[in-house]
Amino acid sequence: MDKKSLLKMLPKTDLFASDIKKKYDFLSRELSVLIARKALDDIRGKILDGIIDDYKYDMLFSAAEYFVNFYKAPSLKRVINATGVIVHTNLGRSPLSEDISKYVFEIATRYSNLEYDVKLGERGSRYDHVEEKLKELTGAEGALVVNNNAAAVMLVLNTFCSGKEGIVSRGELVEIGGSFRVPEVMKLSGAILKEVGCTNRTRIQDYKEAICDNTGLIIKVHPSNFKLIGFTEEVSVDELVALGKERNIIVYNDIGSASLVPLDVTNFKIPSAKDMVNKDVDILSFSGDKMVGGPQAGIIVGKKRYIDVMKKNNLLRAFRIDKLSLVALEGTLLKYFDYKELPDVPIIKKIAMDINETFENCQRLKRVLAQFSSIETTIGKDQSTIGGGSLPEEFIKSFVLNIKAKKVSAFDLEKKLRNWRVPIVIRIKENNIVIDSRTLFEDDYDEIYEFFKDFEGDLR
Ligand SMILES: *Cc1c(COP(=O)(O)O)cnc(C)c1O
Repeated sequence: MDKKSLLKMLPKTDLFASDIKKKYDFLSRELSVLIARKALDDIRGKILDGIIDDYKYDMLFSAAEYFVNFYKAPSLKRVINATGVIVHTNLGRSPLSEDISKYVFEIATRYSNLEYDVKLGERGSRYDHVEEKLKELTGAEGALVVNNNAAAVMLVLNTFCSGKEGIVSRGELVEIGGSFRVPEVMKLSGAILKEVGCTNRTRIQDYKEAICDNTGLIIKVHPSNFKLIGFTEEVSVDELVALGKERNIIVYNDIGSASLVPLDVTNFKIPSAKDMVNKDVDILSFSGDKMVGGPQAGIIVGKKRYIDVMKKNNLLRAFRIDKLSLVALEGTLLKYFDYKELPDVPIIKKIAMDINETFENCQRLKRVLAQFSSIETTIGKDQSTIGGGSLPEEFIKSFVLNIKAKKVSAFDLEKKLRNWRVPIVIRIKENNIVIDSRTLFEDDYDEIYEFFKDFEGDLR
């Protein structure tokens, strides 16, 4: 049929809207009209583009169904992370401990003492709720939290280096995920970048020679997402701190990810914020949702006199942490005060998970899936990663479950898994689907089972 006759067959918006309302009686009249219009536009567009050359009323209804879901359920939803990347940048970084939801629920749905000192009956500060706890956990004299670590970097640079030179090694002029590039961020903050050394080698002498009357900060940036190997040399934090003291210059270390507990449970060591504070760095910043395992936040700790100056910077208002993140952060910090072996913080537990436990998890999943004849499963050795731009090239040994579908390619199976009602994100290796149990949660196992049950049914 030609386009013109197809377009003529489309119903009037009002008529279609009342049919939608009949089918979905929970919709308001206004929303039914909106959905009718969207669905009609969608089908009209497809006719004009020649994507459909036939018209059935059902098509309109399935377009409408899409929009009903669109306006009735959030687009942001849970996914199953079976990739073994523990702090996954694209999958929401750190999942919170479940008990924290009770604090978040209460603060989200009721009024709170966010900026009210109930003892004194006067205005209080949102920052006070976490400052003492962060000081305790890191050993620092002062602490401040902002929206994320990018904001923390900006606040430090703007406060201490605006119109002044910030000395950074050429080996640390890094880009961290798309729009965070150290040279650009420095420019935006008003700081003047004073690069020293070479990409692969920087020596203390380079910093010494760069210091002048207009030096604001000595800056060290953790190259979170790559590793320099070969003929390299970098200046240690200790040396920079000594130099800062000698020449009376503030030393700032953007470590990106720091842990609040010593974590040498694996074959490598994760820097703890306390270790760094012990090195007497003036100011440190790191993310709340990397190795801390909390919500998105930027944590700044250091000498009280510097923290106090940052509290007065007007940018702090633009960078301020939201109350939901704040209560989730405080809830996470509480976990670090009350534990026996490991704090109840999901990412910490996942990092510390013993390889034998990953083997048992694989066996359990293999048993559950054994009833499905559409797939073959084998347990294999592999590696999980910390991820999150935290520790590049650091792997944790794990057992994984490799799954091969007998009639469907790994590529097609991956697509189906991703489009499941709870998207299941996996990796593909040698035409197998790899399920890494290190990043799974208890209820993920049921969903994976349900997926394969449905998958097997579809093949019949
Ligand atoms: C991750 C990271 C940032 C950015 O932190 P966000 O919390 O993503 O804003 C900045 N610097 C370093 C070194 C990082 O690793």
